[in-house]
Amino acid sequence: MTIVKRFIAGAVCPRCGKMDTLRMYRDESHEHRECVSCDFSDAMALDGSDQPKGELDTRVNRGGKVELEPAQPLNFVPNPSTTKH
Ligand SMILES: [Zn+2]
Repeated sequence: MTIVKRFIAGAVCPRCGKMDTLRMYRDESHEHRECVSCDFSDAMALDGSDQPKGELDTRVNRGGKVELEPAQPLNFVPNPSTTKH
């Protein structure tokens, strides 16, 4: 399979911010983008479902549920000087 890399006209690299440095190519399952100015690259599945094939573990279900830090309770102390009518 011949992989043709084509520059994406007008695309801006999300890492280095340069324009027209991104190029894309496809393999049989993914569409890749890479920057020729920095080492940015990413890939997305052609069918839209970017499911890892098992070697990448998902970050859910590891270490149980996420504990959110409780918000600091606000202590509303009525100011006596403002309560008179
Ligand atoms: Zn870049």
